[in-house]
Amino acid sequence: MEKAIQLACKGAQWGGPFGAVIFIDGKIVGESTNYANPHHDPTAHAEIMAIRDACKKLKTRSLKGAVMYSSCEPCPMCKGAIQWAQIDKVFYAAKEKYAQKELGSFMKEDVVFKAIPNPDKNKPFEIAKKYKKAGGVTTNDPVTKKKMERMKN
Ligand SMILES: [Zn+2]
Repeated sequence: MEKAIQLACKGAQWGGPFGAVIFIDGKIVGESTNYANPHHDPTAHAEIMAIRDACKKLKTRSLKGAVMYSSCEPCPMCKGAIQWAQIDKVFYAAKEKYAQKELGSFMKEDVVFKAIPNPDKNKPFEIAKKYKKAGGVTTNDPVTKKKMERMKN
């Protein structure tokens, strides 16, 4: 879970304070932060990117036996992808309501997976707020745009 939160903090710099890590037999097989802003891809959520990472590495479309740790409760799109990937269990730190409170969200679905109480659950959102205050979260900000351009190259 600590790794998922670290990835979330990394993503906070471009406005995606979310991270996900996938384990099989105790080994990390996939991980990612959120890349929706820098990749200009609304589907590039941390959980989906971590699933893509794991499936690509393992050359499979099924992650049976896998466990995902996510910094935040997955959104409906990611929950769907998790089902398609056949991941056995998902644990998350922050409930979606924290993301909703800090960032705004349109998800209103009931909880399906299990939350792990975590004292750092708000850390990525606090970091995201710092970036936002500094004008670094939105894609309209010229500094962030430059950062994103550099990432592409
Ligand atoms: Zn999602």
